[in-house]
Amino acid sequence: MPRPQPGGNPENVLGVVFDSTALPGLDSSSVEGKVTKLTVMMGGPYWSIYPSSPTNPDPAPRPGSAEQLVEPALKHLRRVFPVLESVEPIVTAPHLHLDCIPTYLPGHVTRLRELHEAIRDGPWAGKLSLAGNGYGGVGVNDCVWSVDGIVKGLVEGRAVTGLERWAAPSIDDTSASTILPALSPQAYE
Ligand SMILES: Cc1cc2nc3c(=O)[nH]c(=O)nc-3n(C[C@H](O)[C@H](O)[C@H](O)COP(=O)(O)OP(=O)(O)OC[C@H]3O[C@@H](n4cnc5c(N)ncnc54)[C@H](O)[C@@H]3O)c2cc1C
Repeated sequence: MPRPQPGGNPENVLGVVFDSTALPGLDSSSVEGKVTKLTVMMGGPYWSIYPSSPTNPDPAPRPGSAEQLVEPALKHLRRVFPVLESVEPIVTAPHLHLDCIPTYLPGHVTRLRELHEAIRDGPWAGKLSLAGNGYGGVGVNDCVWSVDGIVKGLVEGRAVTGLERWAAPSIDDTSASTILPALSPQAYE
């Protein structure tokens, strides 16, 4: 999907996945290879449950029902892919997933650091470890990577908050090679 210019994404589209290509082989043989499946994801910070920002000064109201998503999704697809203008979908399956993918707001790193310290220094120390898309990356890979680190720490008998990489770096812990670029705290500042 082309990166939208200001005002150029009236349908509030986040992205489009070509499921037939990305995940082939999931359909029954009667339709496999004969239909094209697309997923249009919309909303998130484009909706007014998030504060306005310089890049999105006028967030749109969130639709009241999933069915309201179909028409703008088709409109978007037909604008980006004019070849679809005369094509009607065989099946549409709208879903309204509320609060499903977190959008990290300014101050996220500071909040994670404070949360790490509160767990580490409080009564939850050694009893609570946090992983998931609310913390250090929303991708499945990020979530699995976080859990992997937590489990390894627990197996070694360490108290793990799961938020160690957000702790204020010590003098001995500033080597860039110890932090993966895509996961560095700066990525979320
Ligand atoms: C439409 C969509 C498409 C996506 N596409 C991709 C993609 O292509 N690639 C990618 O990497 N990521 C993708 N993501 C993001 C990724 O799937 C999620 O960020 C990730 O799966 C979140 O993992 P999680 O373990 O934090 O939470 P979840 O997978 O949401 O797991 C949380 C679990 O906790 C359970 N739960 C909730 N409350 C309670 C409770 N009170 N008691 C007990 N259980 C509870 C829930 O039922 C759920 O099973 C997509 C997300 C969405 C919504």
